[in-house]
Amino acid sequence: MPDKITIAVSKGRIYDEAMPLLAKLDIVPLDDPNKTRKLVLETNQPHIRLLVIRATDVPTYVERGAAELGISGKDVLMEYNGDDLYEPIDLGIAKCRMMLAGLKDAKPITGRPRVVTKYTNITKNYFAELGQQVEIIKLYGSMELGPVLGLSDWIVDLVDTGNTLKANGLVTLEHIADISSRLVVNKAAMKMKNATIKPILDQLSEIVGK
Ligand code: AMP
Repeated sequence: MPDKITIAVSKGRIYDEAMPLLAKLDIVPLDDPNKTRKLVLETNQPHIRLLVIRATDVPTYVERGAAELGISGKDVLMEYNGDDLYEPIDLGIAKCRMMLAGLKDAKPITGRPRVVTKYTNITKNYFAELGQQVEIIKLYGSMELGPVLGLSDWIVDLVDTGNTLKANGLVTLEHIADISSRLVVNKAAMKMKNATIKPILDQLSEIVGK
């Protein structure tokens, strides 16, 4: 009997890009999360189920063992800073970049630069490594507005095509990190349920060519 496995997956783009990978392992959800209100999806494999949850909650479920596996953006993992998670596979999906950006025609900054972001830990660590003092202001969305409305000098956010920045008169200033989705594994489950988890990891590694 295989062990029961729960895989926590971020809603939206990561879910959409992860499902074709899982399908190659013959793991296919029985419901479409866009058409059902169920948060726990059974799959064609009776011992495997999916949790479709907010991106920032995936590491919490996996670290605490409520899910054995998770699929989460590197941005969320960097911000979370967990100790009890293995991160064995870069799935190479939902790729983008974490960038520092500012107004295209910015006036010179006087005093400590102010940075708006929802990634306060990543931003704090980035500037600490540079030895630069900044004031970090937490926002939960529409970071681009910060410099436009004079709330901040800079923003730290994810950039894919760059269209959002451009549409708001912003330009990228520094590259902070390359981002993609990672498979994460609960450390205890890796030992206790190794017979079921290891083949999943091996097949996924092979599929993504790592
Ligand atoms: P873009 O206009 O293509 O540069 O996309 C930027 C917007 O999409 C920003 O609001 C980002 O927060 C969001 N975004 C881009 N890529 C991702 C990703 N891989 N995961 C989550 N959000 C993203």
